[in-house]
Amino acid sequence: MPTLLPGSVDTAGQRATLGVLGGGQLGRMFVHAAQRLGYFTAVLEPDAKSPAGLVSHHHIQTAYDDLAGLAELARLCQAVTTEFENVPAQALQTLAQTRPVAPSAAVVGIAQNRIEEKAHFAACADVSGVTCAPYAVLETPADLQAVLDERADLLPGILKTARMGYDGKGQVRVKTTAELAAAWAELAGVACVLEKMLPLTAECSVLVARGWDGQVVSFAPQRNVHIDGILAVTHAYAGNMPSALAERARAAAVSIAQHLGYVGVLCVEFFVVEDGSEHGGLVVNEMAPRPHNSGHYTIDACDASQFDLQVHAMAGLPLPQPRQHSPAIMLNLLGDVWFGADGQRQEPDWLGVLRLPGTHLHLYGKEQARPGRKMGHLTITGPDVASVKTVARRAAELLGLPGLDSI
Ligand code: ATP
Ligand code: MG
Repeated sequence: MPTLLPGSVDTAGQRATLGVLGGGQLGRMFVHAAQRLGYFTAVLEPDAKSPAGLVSHHHIQTAYDDLAGLAELARLCQAVTTEFENVPAQALQTLAQTRPVAPSAAVVGIAQNRIEEKAHFAACADVSGVTCAPYAVLETPADLQAVLDERADLLPGILKTARMGYDGKGQVRVKTTAELAAAWAELAGVACVLEKMLPLTAECSVLVARGWDGQVVSFAPQRNVHIDGILAVTHAYAGNMPSALAERARAAAVSIAQHLGYVGVLCVEFFVVEDGSEHGGLVVNEMAPRPHNSGHYTIDACDASQFDLQVHAMAGLPLPQPRQHSPAIMLNLLGDVWFGADGQRQEPDWLGVLRLPGTHLHLYGKEQARPGRKMGHLTITGPDVASVKTVARRAAELLGLPGLDSI
């Protein structure tokens, strides 16, 4: 991959342009980071009013697998990335015939399928030092029967569709063999994994960026609080989790990225479980082949954000080791914030929130607020952890956010 210099113009007068498949909020923040460095941007996204399409120089409004749309993206851009792991891997493959694509279709394909993803985690467990939760693959009625007969140890468990799950969608919690059989039938017998329900004491994630040349940098692990399967709060500061555990998670994520030959930004999610040891055991949950919601705090609390590193990695620029300059807490803003206790639509108290010190409001430009829909996030930074927590609690109260007791 030749380096694509920021702000450059080629002999035909074409501006250095970076492309992204998908127009959601991750694409929007990628576009912001790329434009800050002087790149032009192109977004391929069917939705006319998508968060990223609204702010990009070019918006190609076609389906992700539309060949004419993909050809236009390749014509406009010198390198392409994705912001959405459910973009068809075939689309990335098509683009890769003529343009550098990072991450590659092959690794996105692995991350898109929980069965392949878990096989990858198992394949590098010796190097990464972590395994995933006990699980079984359900692809055929015979697989179901075998699990019903022989894997009572996986119950209570979570049945997860192998493909297209996010924010807890495509998941059913099952306690008994009867519930398992009913849940799989309800999911129309699509390929699934049944995962044992683990007693989690915490969850964390690690962001890694790796360049074409194999250079790797990473952020310290952030601790995440999920409510109803959706990320609610991210704690990003020294002491957010025991340091031995944090070091293990960071090293494991780096080795998982290296083992994949990954190029771009990768997020690896972990569970911390009670296992009788002093700090608990670390279990790898899943990975996202892109920047991640739990890394949004890096925009306001670090000298290089996860989106800056995504731009650097795909353009072949040096990857700076990011440094966090402020402790931070990130609060997700779901559509629920736009509705009062009576169910009536309301404008959230932004003025009250913005009056508080160290609040950084990010709204993604989505028109329709719906319960559970990610509309924006609020990052709170400050001089020390205690003051960040005080402001975060106050902001959560003003906005009526859940998860107050976790701050
Ligand atoms: P996303 O892509 O938004 O991270 P997802 O829909 O892919 O989420 P998972 O990360 O698999 O789903 O699960 C969502 C949440 O459900 C986890 O963060 C965790 O809180 C809980 N969960 C998932 N699997 C288990 C498990 N085996 N034991 C206990 N809790 C679990
Ligand atoms: Mg997850």
